[in-house]
Amino acid sequence: MTKIMEMFGKNVFNDSVMKERLSKSTYKQLNETIKRGTDLNSEIAEEVANAMKDWAIENGATHFTHWFHPLSGATAEKHESFVSTAGGGKIILEFSPTNLVKGEADASSFPSGGLRDTFEARGYTAWDPTSYAFIKDNILYIPTVFCSYSGEALDHKTPLLRSMEALNIQAMRVLRLFGNEDVDHVKATAGAEQEYFLVDKKYYDKREDLQLTGRTLIGAPSPKGQEMNDHYYGSIKVRVAEFMRDLNEELWKLGIQAKTEHNEVAPSQHELANIFMTINVSVDQNNLTMEIMKKVARKHNLECLLHEKPFAGINGSGKHNNWSLKTDTGVNLLDPGDTPSENAQFLIFLCAVIKAVDEYQDLIRISIASAGNDHRLGGSEAPPAIVSIFLGDELTEIIEDIVNDRVTSGHKKEAFQFNVHTLPSFPKDNTDRNRTSPFAFTGNKFEFRMPGSSASISTPNTILNMVVAEELKHFADELEKASDINEAIHKLIKETIKNHKRIIFNGNGYDDLWVREAERRGLSNYRSTPEALAHYLDEKNVRVFTDNNVLSETECQSRYEIYLEKYYKTINIEARTLLDMVKKDILPSALKFENILEEAVNNELKLKVKKNTYANRTLNKVLTLNCNITDCVETMEEKLNSSLPEGALEKACFYRDEIIPLMNEIRENVDKLELITDRSIWPMPTYKELLFGVD
Ligand code: ADP
Ligand code: MG
Repeated sequence: MTKIMEMFGKNVFNDSVMKERLSKSTYKQLNETIKRGTDLNSEIAEEVANAMKDWAIENGATHFTHWFHPLSGATAEKHESFVSTAGGGKIILEFSPTNLVKGEADASSFPSGGLRDTFEARGYTAWDPTSYAFIKDNILYIPTVFCSYSGEALDHKTPLLRSMEALNIQAMRVLRLFGNEDVDHVKATAGAEQEYFLVDKKYYDKREDLQLTGRTLIGAPSPKGQEMNDHYYGSIKVRVAEFMRDLNEELWKLGIQAKTEHNEVAPSQHELANIFMTINVSVDQNNLTMEIMKKVARKHNLECLLHEKPFAGINGSGKHNNWSLKTDTGVNLLDPGDTPSENAQFLIFLCAVIKAVDEYQDLIRISIASAGNDHRLGGSEAPPAIVSIFLGDELTEIIEDIVNDRVTSGHKKEAFQFNVHTLPSFPKDNTDRNRTSPFAFTGNKFEFRMPGSSASISTPNTILNMVVAEELKHFADELEKASDINEAIHKLIKETIKNHKRIIFNGNGYDDLWVREAERRGLSNYRSTPEALAHYLDEKNVRVFTDNNVLSETECQSRYEIYLEKYYKTINIEARTLLDMVKKDILPSALKFENILEEAVNNELKLKVKKNTYANRTLNKVLTLNCNITDCVETMEEKLNSSLPEGALEKACFYRDEIIPLMNEIRENVDKLELITDRSIWPMPTYKELLFGVD
């Protein structure tokens, strides 16, 4: 315990370090900046920069870097030394306030989706003071936004911060209507539950597909898979436990509160949950967690797989994103509360989420769309591609009673009055009872379960904040002009539930019947990334981005292009990796096996053995499979080398419709081949080794 206390936040320039090292007035100003999420005042920048530099150097840092999150996906950094020459062969250690407030980065190699043509190639980075700087590998990391010189966002953080601001403004308007004079601001909170696989490094090193694409492109099922459910919450293997211990320590040093860890459903699958934080901090911490997981795994001769679907036929990995709203006075706005007024306020926020999720189902689906996530949406244990909300039977009944103007008070039903009645209590669904719902209310927060394991939670949270802000804005507009606030609240809640209850579904989301029912309700079901992205620029979507100052029209356009490009480039890499493996590893090995079988058949002929032997039958199968594979390989090569259609959406559809089916066909044949090939000839580790190979 004392070890944790000593270690926790040791490498973070956090509040207590700031308090200790800054003058009272600077600390106070910086604290205000952090609390309100405003820009860093340049007058205090120098003192803060100096304090940060001294602290960093005392703690072993030699360099600093602006740490940002460009649209390419991975976080980016550029290290600079603190060292400057001071003449006479001497050096001084320098870190100027401009390094803190504004840094320069050449934006020309990061994706900008056309923005780079229209605007200057150079971009700038600026510290997000609400996310603490930290030291890792002797480098001071400063979390920053990344924008073009004309102010266009080139990263994931900028729109996230803008969405938080939109949400704060609108939530505050609603809170004022309920009194709440003491509240100064509202922030969204998020807690991510990160799933991952661990495989032995020695097997990983022999799998080109895992190395280049993060998932297995071929691989027959292991004789044993996850069917016994014996891994879920099972006892943790020694090597994995050592990895987890190390990982926790690394995370604690960076002030990341890694809370729970357990085995997941699939063999060699695990989960780590961090304690929730203000949303932008949580996003940074999750990005860092993913990076550190990979690094620590390598120290233990393991490889951490963060892909959404590393193995076919086995559960994929997701990242449950728990989301709520919190006031600076510590109130969780999605907690029902005890008094009639708190209840009414809770219902307004609940209704805003229900309406937002219904009206912007497509944007929510888009926010988690990726080539990797397409494999798991609708797959085993994962949410389907249809967006719906789970409220639980009890809460659903309560809101239906409100719509129907009845409430159980004492023993009789009477009209519900917001200023008089309290909500009947209902159990919190903390137990994950219905794991099939993509968006579940769990007592005092929503759990969005669609995000993929490898993606940053920045975009889904940006969209959530924004669409809820949009609905709160309309609610505030209506309530502010009402003469009788109680009546207006009642009417608003009734109408919202009535108009949007189609999005509420408490049943089994994996049931085929739900797909048909959802269609009947008019809910969208976009099964693939291109199908979802085709709606990104729909008028209502661009309007909600621009009205809430989250993205401009040009920024929307550029992101649309980047997301599509990322999708088809991913599939292109997968297809080319598959070809490489099939041509250089699989077919040559199959040929060896074919020769052995041929020799056996010839021997048998000489011995006049009757024809239907193992060698003969297997040879026929191998020959057929080899022919099938070769046919597909040639067709796929032709397609990949042909000229692609114009337009990003068309290209994405081409890869989805022309290349993915061929990849699947190749895989099907290769997997059949694996099942009959001599173990000693098969050129790469099998599913058994990958899934059960960590001792
Ligand atoms: P369970 O384990 O039953 O899903 P937990 O309470 O342990 O529920 O929460 C799981 C995740 O949700 C954790 O990351 C936790 O920090 C996060 N979480 C809890 N409360 C909130 C909240 N108010 N806002 C955002 N995330 C939250
Ligand atoms: Mg959960």
